Parts: sequence; structure tokens; C-alpha cells
Amino acid sequence: MTTDQRSGATTDAPAIHARMVIGGRLVDAADGATFEIVDPAHGRVIGTAALGGPADVDAAVAAARAAFEGPWRSMSATARGRLLARYAQVVRDHVEELAWLETRNVGKPISGSRGEAKGVANTFEFYAGAPNKLHGQTIPVSRPGLDFTLREPIGVVGLIVPWNFPMVMAAWKLGPALAAGNTTILKPASWSPLTAVRLGELALEAGLPDGVVNVVTGPGDTVGAAIARHPGIGKVAFTGETTTGQEIMRLASANVKKVSLELGGKSPNIVFADADLDRFCAESPYAVFDQTGQDCCARSRIIVERSVHDRVVEGFVAATKKVVVGDPADPATEVGPMVSLRQRERVLDYIRIGNEEGAALVCGGGVPDDAALADGAYLLPTVFDRVDPAMRISQEEIFGPVVAIIPFDSEEEALRIADDSQYGLSGSIWSRDIGRALRMAKGLEAGVISVNSNSSVHTEAPFGGYKLSGVGRELGMHAIDLYTEVKNVFVDLRP
Ligand code: NAD
Repeated sequence: MTTDQRSGATTDAPAIHARMVIGGRLVDAADGATFEIVDPAHGRVIGTAALGGPADVDAAVAAARAAFEGPWRSMSATARGRLLARYAQVVRDHVEELAWLETRNVGKPISGSRGEAKGVANTFEFYAGAPNKLHGQTIPVSRPGLDFTLREPIGVVGLIVPWNFPMVMAAWKLGPALAAGNTTILKPASWSPLTAVRLGELALEAGLPDGVVNVVTGPGDTVGAAIARHPGIGKVAFTGETTTGQEIMRLASANVKKVSLELGGKSPNIVFADADLDRFCAESPYAVFDQTGQDCCARSRIIVERSVHDRVVEGFVAATKKVVVGDPADPATEVGPMVSLRQRERVLDYIRIGNEEGAALVCGGGVPDDAALADGAYLLPTVFDRVDPAMRISQEEIFGPVVAIIPFDSEEEALRIADDSQYGLSGSIWSRDIGRALRMAKGLEAGVISVNSNSSVHTEAPFGGYKLSGVGRELGMHAIDLYTEVKNVFVDLRP
């Protein structure tokens, strides 16, 4: 990336030009096309990126294949792990730079961006320990002989990521894909190419062989689709909208690619009367308004026992009003702008729908009344009470700072409302009755659950969705399954 201003702390930083990383070189698109990168906090163009196309994907696949068949495949697992450890350290050395790039590109508050950049290093560190622990099995088959399995890399894998957690989603895929011995083609969302490109450059700086990490930037319907259907790519890992995931699944069927999908969500936050209500009210606004609600795990439905409904609404709204909305460059800011004015329009439309459906708007519902924020894609944290589970604001993923509060009368009803969703990504249960909490945890149709906590994502533990929320499990050692083939070998030992 050609910029001498790595901090980006000031809005008059020089323009960035992000090139793609293909075969160890920084390159422009084959036809020289570019697209603009906009800072959503100020509505300003901050640079350009290469507008890749199918020809660039072809070049990346060729480079990744050559690396797979060359230095990467012949490297010992231990050496591969050491390189990943070095990659983790190089990322750690660049946390500040990566954090500012992300903040400028997608409007994420700088404090959160710093945490995410450290999370990328942590993820690589976790997977650095994995390569020489990918054991096969010996299996006592019924015929005389020796039967054993080998875990082998798939080859070239395509990694398509969204704009809401650009570098984190890239790391969740790069870490296990590289640990398992694959070579990679990373495609960031058009709104958020900067940290992906930088991660590609840092891979080279860390000493990963040319072609092991390639980054191709450009639109989803050209670059993303070319990756999804490419016959030279054996697996595609995707995070994004459910409808895009469905299209990728369809395209990937051309060569029966392995597919893993992390998709949308409409996660419940279920509060029983016996819970620590003060803690729930203080902590839970962040579970939905963090990332300006642009979080697949956002606890966007609060399902509350009717006997404590009024108290919870009052406490939750009071805590919501304290959430600091502002310029993402300010370390005190907790909620920045949305990624674009277009996304904000989409969410404002849902707020209009909620009002029309008859839900009670009890907080927010519009843009902040602050001249300093007028040019950015800001939106106030918004709370709808007395929501009927059938309403669109309860059923559809809004992907913005909007929460729906729904009362319930019994444990069975709470579970029924929570599971009345096409999605099944995550969810939380708040109760001091451990038996009830565990019954609910077992009953919920979702992949990632927390009890008395809004946080259920850990580098070491599996992450992924039921139903329309996805296929496969990322993170932890489960993710290795997404990036390996299992080969069974039988040896007849008769003399
Ligand atoms: P999106 O589906 O629009 O785009 C995601 C990626 O897919 C981008 O890189 C995009 O360019 C690419 N793409 C778009 N059309 C494509 C096509 N036809 N073929 C191939 N690639 C294509 O999603 P988004 O708006 O960037 O992200 C928001 C969505 O992501 C939300 O629904 C959110 O819930 C989901 N998400 C899920 C998780 C999870 O882990 N489950 C995490 C983060 C975000």
C-alpha cells in the first residue's frame, strides 16, 4: 500500500492507494481500474484500491497453486508453525497501524480497532501451534492389515470476507487455512479493502513464501463470484449475508468445492426475573450497539420475563442513553458511524417499518443532533419495546443499532420466541437458576451461546451457526476440519 501516513489519526492524511498482493508482488488490476475508498465518519474519499476482476483471480490462483506445489507443501509442519508465529509477531508490531486503517476505512471506534488488531495477532498465534499437531488415526479395521488416516491440505482456498470485521474475519480464515498447509486468496469487501491488503503485505514481511497469501480486491459479483466458481480453487470460506452465501454455494457447486459459510443472525438475549438485572442492563446495550449494530452476533432481540419487563426496559434505556456516539478517532467513542450512508438508509427504513408495525419506540430512532457528526453515517442507538415476535423488526436482520424488546410469561414461551427465527447464530441467557439456564442453552437452536454474559466468542472455541446462519465451525481446532481432507490408507499386511 503506498502511503507514508500510517496513523491516519488526522483527516487530512495523504491519499492511500491499495494494490493487490499476488504472487508476492503488489500489483494493480490487470486493466488498471480502481475504486474509491470512503471514510464513513466524514463522508470523504481517502484513497483508491485496485478494482480487480476475473483475470486477477486467475493470476492469484496460478500464484497460489505454484506456492502450494513448491515451497509451502515441502515445508515441515513445524517450520510452517514457526512462520505463522512470526506472522503473528509482525501483526503485533503493526497493531497501531492496522487499527487506524480500519478506523478510517469503516468508522470503527479506535479503541475497538486496537482490540481487533490484537485479536488478529492472537488468532495467528493460536494457529501457529497447530500444524505439527494435526494427527491422523490408526483404525482397527476387520481385515488383517494396517489402516490409518492422513490429514492433508485442500490446496488453494478462497476466503471471502465482509466489511464489518474486515481484519478479524480475514484472520479467522487465514489462521487455520495456513496452519493446515493451504495457500490462500483473500477477498475483502469493497467497502473495506485496507487491512486485508496490509495483512497480505505483512505476510510477505513475515517471510511467508510468495503466493501463500494473495489478496484480490474488487466487487463481490465479479471477483467474489470468480473465486466461488474457479475450478482451481478447492474450497471457499465465506462470511457475509445469507443471500450471498446461498449464491456462493450455488457457484461453488461447479467443481463441488468444499464450502463453509458464516452468515446472518437475529440473536436473542433472554432475561429471566431471577437474573442480575442491574448487570444485564449495564452490559447489554454493548451487545447490540457495539459496532453500531453491524455485528452478526448482535443481541438484537431482548426477550424479557413480563414480571420484570418495566424494570429492564427502564434500566436498559438508561444505560443506552449513556453510550458515547461520536467520531471513531476519539478514544472515548463507543459507537461510531455505520459503514456507509447507504447502510444507514437501510436501517432508517427498518425504524420506519417498526413504527408502522406498531412497536413502541422508546429510545433513539434517528440521527444524532450534533453538527460535528452531520457528514458521517451516524445513527442513534434505537430501542423498540412491546414488539410482537411476528413483526419484521423481530424477524429480519437489521444490521444496525436497533433492538426489539419482547415480553414472555414462561420458560417454554421464551424458548419458542427465541427459536422462532430463520437464523441460529448466537444467543444469551440471563438467570441465577443454573438448571433453567442449561435447559435453555440446550434448547436454543443456535451455535454459540452464553449464560450470564453477552460474549460467546473465543479464539480457542468453535464458532458458527445453525439454520440460515451458516455451515461449518470457525475458530478453535474445529476450524482445521474446514481446511483439511482426510485420506484413509489401508495396508494389507499378509506375508
Ligand atoms: P455481503 O454478503 O454483502 O458481502 C460479503 C463478501 O461477499 C464481500 O467480500 C462481498 O464483496 C462478497 N460478495 C458479494 N456478492 C458476492 C457474490 N455474488 N459472489 C461472491 N462473493 C460475493 O455481506 P456484508 O454486507 O459485507 O456483511 C454483512 C453480513 O455479514 C451480515 O449479514 C452479517 O450478519 C454477516 N456476518 C456474519 C458473520 C458470522 O460469522 N456469521 C460475521 C460477520 C458478518
